[in-house]
Amino acid sequence: MMSIKYIDLSLQTKKIAPELSNIFKEVISSGQFVGGKYINKFERNMSKFLGVKYCVALNSGTDALTFAMHSLGIKRGDEVITPPNSFVASTAAIIHLGAKPIFVDVLEDQNLDFSKIEKSLTKKTKAIMPVHLTGRPCEMKEIMKIAKKYNLKVIEDSAQSIGTRYNQKKVGTIGDVGCFSAHPLKNLNALGDAGYLATNNRKIYEKIKDLSNHGMTKRNTIYRFGHVSRMDSLQASILGFKLKNLNSVILQRRKNYEIYRNNLNRKHIFFPEEKKYQYNTYHTFVIQVKNRNKLKKFLEAKKIETSIHYPVPIHLQPAAKFLGYKIGDFPIAENQSKKILTLPIHQDLRQIDILRICKEVNSFYN
Ligand SMILES: *Cc1c(COP(=O)(O)O)cnc(C)c1O
Repeated sequence: MMSIKYIDLSLQTKKIAPELSNIFKEVISSGQFVGGKYINKFERNMSKFLGVKYCVALNSGTDALTFAMHSLGIKRGDEVITPPNSFVASTAAIIHLGAKPIFVDVLEDQNLDFSKIEKSLTKKTKAIMPVHLTGRPCEMKEIMKIAKKYNLKVIEDSAQSIGTRYNQKKVGTIGDVGCFSAHPLKNLNALGDAGYLATNNRKIYEKIKDLSNHGMTKRNTIYRFGHVSRMDSLQASILGFKLKNLNSVILQRRKNYEIYRNNLNRKHIFFPEEKKYQYNTYHTFVIQVKNRNKLKKFLEAKKIETSIHYPVPIHLQPAAKFLGYKIGDFPIAENQSKKILTLPIHQDLRQIDILRICKEVNSFYN
């Protein structure tokens, strides 16, 4: 029995080894390792792909979130609305600015429940950070409506959702700033850490560009002290190359989802359907089931690798203790954390692999 991996980065890389090798040779011989033409080109191409005016290449999605909030004026004592079931970095970025994450529960599709935002607002609320989890867009129309009404900034954590659309608009281009990760596990992935952000606001763009590069607007004049968080030329060049193929990666993942959709027994297995106005990129494919841990073990024995994103909601992590949340505060997210299981959906899977996964999952419940 062949094992089915949750993700296979060495296979993915092997398939483009000659192209990668050419990129290495070119960048190495150019002598431009930080900043310069490879970065400019990536930023230009990414802006075009997303349909925004500006993009900044950074060294991680986490830094994109931090710089986005900082440039929008989020500071010590401010409150930021965000879901408790994200990857820990969304919340960590808020904390490191001295601001306070205010968690709001999620919908059945694991994304922010907009109907619960208004009652969590206080005089200190400055921003909403929706997270487009799993490659599925949040209900942005409703979220933007609330943001306008209360004059709040919107930072879209789009780390899992490059190419995802909401009403034809790419996520990360709807709020004030969209933040993306190119970590090896994301759909558009570097060979190491990388991230980028998107905005239509020139002032914010210029501020973040400076901040990420020691605050050096000009070589020898510093208007504000900065950080160092630049994407390097090698990663920018690799991402630029992979960007050309991103739509076909997304289409393959969508095809894989269709196979799951047509073959999983939905009497026992829940997963949210894609709505008409959504275009999901399936960064992950998450099912919600009873006896999740037993199913995971069962699949392991059948050599099918799965994952859980994420087994412990952020408000129940030991690090979050000082925020004062407790079990029962976010019943939907907490309940989902016990039922969710991420099945393999990456672009290199074969149809027979997915059919085998469906067969095994169905047989577990029969
Ligand atoms: C991956 C991820 C991040 C962080 O991105 P890095 O590039 O690893 O810093 C932030 N938020 C979400 C939802 C993510 O999935």
